[in-house]
Amino acid sequence: MLANFHTHTVFCDGNNTPEEIVLAAIEKDFSAIGFSGHGFTPFDQSYCMKDTEAYAREIRRLKEKYKNKIQIYLGVEEDAFAPVDRSAFDYVIGSSHYLRAGGRHLAIDSSPEEFYECLKAFSGNPVRLAEAYYGEFCDYIGKRRPDIIGHFDLITKYDELGDSLFLKNPEYNAIAERAATIAAKSGAIFEVNTGAITRGLRSTAYPAENILFTLRREEARIILSSDSHDAATLDAFFDETKRYLYDIGFRHTYALWNGEFIKCDIK
Ligand SMILES: [Zn+2]
Ligand SMILES: [Zn+2]
Repeated sequence: MLANFHTHTVFCDGNNTPEEIVLAAIEKDFSAIGFSGHGFTPFDQSYCMKDTEAYAREIRRLKEKYKNKIQIYLGVEEDAFAPVDRSAFDYVIGSSHYLRAGGRHLAIDSSPEEFYECLKAFSGNPVRLAEAYYGEFCDYIGKRRPDIIGHFDLITKYDELGDSLFLKNPEYNAIAERAATIAAKSGAIFEVNTGAITRGLRSTAYPAENILFTLRREEARIILSSDSHDAATLDAFFDETKRYLYDIGFRHTYALWNGEFIKCDIK
């Protein structure tokens, strides 16, 4: 079943309207498409949704208009530091995009410069940064229990660009694997997110291979998503990533169908 549930539009920082996305998904023979606008983050309004009600109205309109062609879901990508009112949404992706330092929220994924500023706040020590990131994220996951955990190891976004602070650091890997084990106990579905491959930043999806082996061992459920900000990349790198997941030992991903997360074979 072809589907994507991590999709951004012009209601936040995406390039296309929801209707353009729906038409592209139908063209690609998708069975379902889920929208996940960035929930409002009061401390950083650069990329989140400002008018969540208009977004919800528009997705509901499309749901009705295209109901004979594709299943459409109204979701939200909630930031760990900015809980949203979930009552309007069919599902919630819980993601962590910030670290708090010196009374500010510093984005870990907006630019390498801001990431390094953030690292400085942890005395330049990637292990301390990782402990803070996973500590906060696991607390959020335990308390808010999102349906889907978004790009679990987002702090590694720029790791392949310069000195590998994380992915080749055994101390970091132990922290990330421990965090994945804790987060898996929440029962949430982990996203395998190809977004950073599309952006030319990472050679494989989030989370990294060692975390995927941990999730396999914990029998966690996974969902494949593109974190797409453009109609052209709705299923970017899905085929390669499915083969990669199969080699790691996964035989199923999950997808929303008739309002429930169902198992889909990886072929
Ligand atoms: Zn995100
Ligand atoms: Zn996203």
